[in-house]
Amino acid sequence: MNFGETTWPELREPRLLAVPVGATEQHGPHLPCTVDTDIAVALCERLAEQREVVIAPPVAYGSSGEHAAFPGTLSIGQAATELLLTELGRSADAFSGVVLVSCHGGNAVPVRNAVRTLRSEGRRVLAWSPTGRADDSHAGRTETSVMLALRPHAVRLERAEIGNTAPLSELIDRLRAGGTAAVSANGVLGDPRGASGSEGRRILRSWTDDLIDVIDAWD
Ligand SMILES: [Zn+2]
Repeated sequence: MNFGETTWPELREPRLLAVPVGATEQHGPHLPCTVDTDIAVALCERLAEQREVVIAPPVAYGSSGEHAAFPGTLSIGQAATELLLTELGRSADAFSGVVLVSCHGGNAVPVRNAVRTLRSEGRRVLAWSPTGRADDSHAGRTETSVMLALRPHAVRLERAEIGNTAPLSELIDRLRAGGTAAVSANGVLGDPRGASGSEGRRILRSWTDDLIDVIDAWD
C-alpha cells in the first residue's frame, strides 16, 4: 500500500507508516544523484510485500553538505532535516507507528535526534539504516551493485572507477573539515569495480531481512 494509490478513508485503520528517507547528492561519475532515495524506496517496497505497512512519499532531500563541492548535490542541512522528520512524525498520529528507513549516512544525527524528540513526546517511532563495509561507504561496490539490481539503465558502468578506499574512520576528520572532495576527487569512497546486479539482489535481500527482523522485534 502506498500513498500514490490510497485515499484517506482507506487509511482509517491504523497501520505502520514506512517513510523512505534519502538524499539528493553526487554518487560518483557512474551513479545517479538519487541513489539514497531510490534504495530507501526499494527497501520500503520490499518491506510492504512481507508486512502490513503503508509507504509514505519519500523524503528526497537531506543533510548532504559534505558533498556540496559536486554539482548534483541538493542539501537542506542537518537542522532542517531534523525539523522536517520531527514534524512529519508529529503529523502521523493516525498511524500505529512510524519507521524511518534511512539510507544516507549524513542523515544519521538528524534522524537520531528526531526519533529521540518524537519518542519523548510519547510517539512510536523507529529508525533503521542499512549497514555496510567501512571502506565502501559511498558510491562503491555495495551501492553500485544495488543500483544494478534496481535500475541498471541508470548506472554508467563504463565510468565506474576506484575512489578512496581507506576506512571511513580514517577519513572522517578530513571529510568533516573539507567535505568529500578533500578525500576523493571523483566523489567515490570505495571501489565500484566488480559490482554486479546479482550481488545487489543479495544485498537487498539481506537488508530487507534485517529491516523486517528489527520491526518484528519492536514492541
Ligand atoms: Zn549513497
